[in-house]
Amino acid sequence: MCDEIKRSCIDCMGSACEDDDNDMKYPPFCMHVNMKPELRAESVEKFRNNEEFLQMSMQSAAVESEGYGVWPRVKEICEFAKRMGYKKIGIATCVGLLAESRAMAKLLRHYGFEVVGISCKSGQVTKQEIGYTDNNCGLGDYICNPILQATVLNDEKTDMNIIMGLCVGHDTLFIKHSDAPITVGVTKDRVTGHNPVQPLYQLNSYYSKLLK
Ligand code: SF4
Repeated sequence: MCDEIKRSCIDCMGSACEDDDNDMKYPPFCMHVNMKPELRAESVEKFRNNEEFLQMSMQSAAVESEGYGVWPRVKEICEFAKRMGYKKIGIATCVGLLAESRAMAKLLRHYGFEVVGISCKSGQVTKQEIGYTDNNCGLGDYICNPILQATVLNDEKTDMNIIMGLCVGHDTLFIKHSDAPITVGVTKDRVTGHNPVQPLYQLNSYYSKLLK
């Protein structure tokens, strides 16, 4: 069965692609070595022909370099937005993370940004309204409404939106409907204190139950 699996970077133990000067070998399935040249060329053209994409790349590299290992992510977000020249920031927040979103807004306002937030339950659209059946109503009467969150922030003409703890799938819908570029402030994980990588660190030990 293993032989049928398509191997790629996630199966690579080396990352020789990261640095020309190391002794690592590219694996036979290497995505870099076997890449279609036209795909690589297409990505280069996208940066070269779009000033916004180029700026995003350059400014994120500058933030990474300047704050490497020193700035927490929330500061990196502020620094990136400042360097991009953004003025108005949207926060799409889970209603359960309003305190954290308020703190994020405090930091953004300290930087001089205009900030507008919208909670997932705002609008109070019911599950019945959009066609839920009795069987999948789950918790509460109102849906989390990431489409409305994106629509409100689109109407506010925000320059960048920050996701603060939207549920899995709700974040997907928000990303599909937001006009403004998005970054993630908090990735929701109710079990790990919003640290979804933790079970991955422990997948061969405490979290091996996930593989059963
Ligand atoms: S590009 Fe090649 S060397 Fe780099 S991580 Fe992928 S498989 Fe490994």
